Amino acid sequence: MTNNFISKERNKLKYFVGNWKMFGDLDSFKIIKRIRQFYIKFRTSDKKNKIILCVPNTLIGFYKKKLNSKIILLGAQNCSQHKNYGAFTGSVSALMLKKAGAEFIILGHSENRMEGETSQLIKRKIKSALSENLNVIFCIGETASEKKGGKTLPVLYNQLKNSIDKKFDLNKIIFAYEPVWSIGTGKTPHMRYLQKITMYIKHFFKTKKYINVLYGGSVNDKNIKEFSKLAPFMDGFLIGGASQSSKKFIDIIKNYYK
Ligand code: PEP
Repeated sequence: MTNNFISKERNKLKYFVGNWKMFGDLDSFKIIKRIRQFYIKFRTSDKKNKIILCVPNTLIGFYKKKLNSKIILLGAQNCSQHKNYGAFTGSVSALMLKKAGAEFIILGHSENRMEGETSQLIKRKIKSALSENLNVIFCIGETASEKKGGKTLPVLYNQLKNSIDKKFDLNKIIFAYEPVWSIGTGKTPHMRYLQKITMYIKHFFKTKKYINVLYGGSVNDKNIKEFSKLAPFMDGFLIGGASQSSKKFIDIIKNYYK
């Protein structure tokens, strides 16, 4: 079975990825239902996009059954580095997430790095996710003090170099540039800065494969129009807080295309 949802075509497809973080219950399916209703009417053949909602593990199986289509895809937000099943109390493997219905998985999120995830550990998690044919959304980004110290590119270099193995299939990985200082703060990067970082990530691997790069950090229905100017370089957005509201998430998509 293939699940190749990652675009290999230069900038054809825009991703709108929601990261629900530690939010939601069975009843929150109404948010997804509203997004789906909107999207069924909104999508056209000239606007190519994908909506992926990365929800807590507790909800993936239930939502998958309710969705019963590929209009909206589901993702997880982390997994164990250990494969299959095993004596790892409280852990959830990529296999288990895949079986529950996830097609995507966020890995390397700064909120998990802050809890102690190292680049080496993230690399093992990516390997495990890829072995289950999950599409990986790999987050990288610098802190405020690293930015202030002019260390953004060396930080990104290390995060990319130390977590992405040469053997990994780059067609199965989407890169999400998420500056830590921007997540949940309302602060966003200048467009020229963002363009420079995006191009840095796209050219990092010196490959002919198309490298998809998303931006994440305080994206909302107001600032999305400004971000849309980067359409030729930017493949989409990872949206945290605003994805927990159907209205905010829908308005982001609407305003992006306005
Ligand atoms: C995130 O957590 O991935 C994120 C981008 O959060 P927010 O949109 O809330 O800044």
